[in-house]
Amino acid sequence: TYVVTDACIRCKYMDCVEVCPVDCFYEGENMLVINPNECIDCGVCEPECPAEAILPDTESGLEKWLELNSTYSAEWPNI
Ligand code: SF4
Repeated sequence: TYVVTDACIRCKYMDCVEVCPVDCFYEGENMLVINPNECIDCGVCEPECPAEAILPDTESGLEKWLELNSTYSAEWPNI
């Protein structure tokens, strides 16, 4: 799965949302998250993010962000 990290906070670009083929972005007050159960790992959102906030969860040190994406995607509205 891909994971949204803190560089997304207060970013106003929504380019990632436009390209996601499975609409698995969810929107909070200050940032977006990806539902890890819905993401198909296609990777097309990663280069669209101008803040470089989207990373594959295979990168080290992202455990906290993966958990946050999982938790908040269950609570926030789908966009
Ligand atoms: Fe959507 Fe693909 Fe990005 Fe996953 S990797 S959030 S499926 S665009």
